[in-house]
Amino acid sequence: MSNLLVNTRDQEFVLFEQLGIDKLFETEAFKDFTKDDLLMILNEAEKMAVNVVAPTLAEGDKEGCTFKDGKVTIPKCFHDAWKKFVEAGWLAPSESPDVGGQGLPRSIAFAVSELIGAANYAFQMYPGLTHGAAGLIETYGTEEQKNKYMYKMYAGEWAGTMCLTEPGAGSDLNLIKTTAKRLPDGKFQITGTKSFISSGDHDLTPNIIHPVLARIEGDPPGTKGISIFIVPKIKVNDDGSLGEPNDVVTGGIEHKMGIKASATATLNFGENGNCVGELLGGEREGMRIMFQMMNEARLGTGMQGLDSATAAYEHAVQYAKERIQGNDIMAGKDPNAKPVAIINHPDVRRKLMWMKSHIEGMRSMNYFVAYCMDKSKVAATEEEKANWEGYLDLMTTVVKAYCSDKGLLICSTAMDVYGGYGYCQEYPVEQYLRDEKIATIYEGTNGIQSLTLVGRSLGQRKGANAMNLFGEIQKNIKKMKEHKELGKFTAILEEAANACMDITMFFVQAGKAGNFLLPILNAYKFMEIFGDVLLGHFLIDAAGVAAEKLDAIYKEKGADTEEKQKALCKDDKEAAFYSGRVASAKFFAVEILTTVKSRCEAIKMDEKSALELSEEAFAY
Ligand SMILES: Cc1cc2nc3c(=O)[nH]c(=O)nc-3n(C[C@H](O)[C@H](O)[C@H](O)COP(=O)(O)OP(=O)(O)OC[C@H]3O[C@@H](n4cnc5c(N)ncnc54)[C@H](O)[C@@H]3O)c2cc1C
Repeated sequence: MSNLLVNTRDQEFVLFEQLGIDKLFETEAFKDFTKDDLLMILNEAEKMAVNVVAPTLAEGDKEGCTFKDGKVTIPKCFHDAWKKFVEAGWLAPSESPDVGGQGLPRSIAFAVSELIGAANYAFQMYPGLTHGAAGLIETYGTEEQKNKYMYKMYAGEWAGTMCLTEPGAGSDLNLIKTTAKRLPDGKFQITGTKSFISSGDHDLTPNIIHPVLARIEGDPPGTKGISIFIVPKIKVNDDGSLGEPNDVVTGGIEHKMGIKASATATLNFGENGNCVGELLGGEREGMRIMFQMMNEARLGTGMQGLDSATAAYEHAVQYAKERIQGNDIMAGKDPNAKPVAIINHPDVRRKLMWMKSHIEGMRSMNYFVAYCMDKSKVAATEEEKANWEGYLDLMTTVVKAYCSDKGLLICSTAMDVYGGYGYCQEYPVEQYLRDEKIATIYEGTNGIQSLTLVGRSLGQRKGANAMNLFGEIQKNIKKMKEHKELGKFTAILEEAANACMDITMFFVQAGKAGNFLLPILNAYKFMEIFGDVLLGHFLIDAAGVAAEKLDAIYKEKGADTEEKQKALCKDDKEAAFYSGRVASAKFFAVEILTTVKSRCEAIKMDEKSALELSEEAFAY
């Protein structure tokens, strides 16, 4: 029975059968875990998601957040869910037990976050930001700062945020105006306004710790002059107890399309000249330090795409099986034909298959990225470590932009499966769609992510990260090309991957020839192409594993004809699952990968009317 959130069988498949994360148990860092331990942990996370977090979805959306008398309150139901969530240790699952974590692999933490995020992403944002902010202090803080803030944050006693954006500085953080003035005791007086701050103020915890980007007076303009400060909402005494309020005044909260239960606040620091912050790390190293949290948040936003998509899909499948409408296409005009469930209609099938194949591909891709973090942690050599980190660096923007875009389209397609009912609040898909939209915008818009991918990530380590990744794809193609069932689909992947590599080189040459506007104008299209090729790669790889297991089941159960195999896939859950993974790869190859080469050719046409058109002509 579906939990209506996440296909946990597929989670298990990606983790243990496709990626083989059990290999991690052979290393010192993860030697204390077994597969059974991790399955039990996932089972507990599923219970938390289904029984504790999912019930807050509609209620949280309806109640929303309120701002009254300078204070923000968040939905009442979140308080109980937060308490249970942090008590169960889900805030820092992959951190070391030394700092209050469980020491789990990141790949398991991603699977846990998928369950919780699918249950209610607005809820997930409170622990997510707290985790990221605590992580900054763990990596860059002094012992004193760790003792003062980090432990309490990982334990969920206090919460955290991420304060970058200002009214005049969104995509371009060069323009940050918040200032930090030196105080005699080595601390800093912070003055400025931060806008759109998620979890910026709320009544979940007695204190909120804000990492704030600001410029120390006299430091140079631009991002090079930015430092980062720990600014608590309430000052903390030396003995760890709470002191006076720290002159962090909430100006208001946003009234939004979605994630209504996540408080998005404007924060005025130092309105009364009494806001004190502590420098985190070195002076003028703010951007470098904040990138740790920004990258974590980008991956989290990519996961948000997967989370919303999987919940919307699971609901859509259930609805499609129950909603009776229209005759079976094979019944023709038979007046006695009985109407059937809409899952029987080819166009509904196509929609479901489109959603399913993208979701499975995104799950494999995102868990792979988490696995890269695990592998870099246990790497035997510096080179190995650099290679795993290289995949992570290269893929972070793709995970963010591609998965949030596709997540939105999947939620929209789920609504189409429901028809008119999906557009109404009676069913949850309209909320999934509203909640998901922000993922394409925050943590850097998808347009900006694509520019980062093309302008920076592809060229990192002199292109070694990209070459290594394309090398992995080629290895997979070589292995699967002769596969009796998947060979012809692998050939489609090969053509798409070659076209993608070719357009990468074309960008380099265009840049060298002075036509740098070509890669810039086409960066978004490239991000989509690159994402499609990566998904195709992960889907074919997964299908190879699934096909082998399916063959073994056929053999064991004596299903030696097509007819018997089809019948088995109806009765046997495991056979049905594996056949679904094989089908996803075939569908994706034909539906999506066949278009990649022509999209690359279109980019080469160097069509620049969008740039050449006068501003006046955009609107008459
Ligand atoms: C609900 C919500 C929660 C948020 N949470 C946080 C948070 O916790 N912390 C935080 O610091 N911020 C947060 N933000 C802010 C968010 O990250 C920014 O809104 C986002 O980065 C875009 O900035 P902007 O809104 O100023 O848009 P702008 O920067 O004004 O961009 C507008 C449009 O122009 C495009 N654009 C701008 N510059 C360029 C360029 N050079 N090249 C190409 N295109 C460009 C953008 O892609 C976009 O399409 C949140 C925002 C929202 C709505």
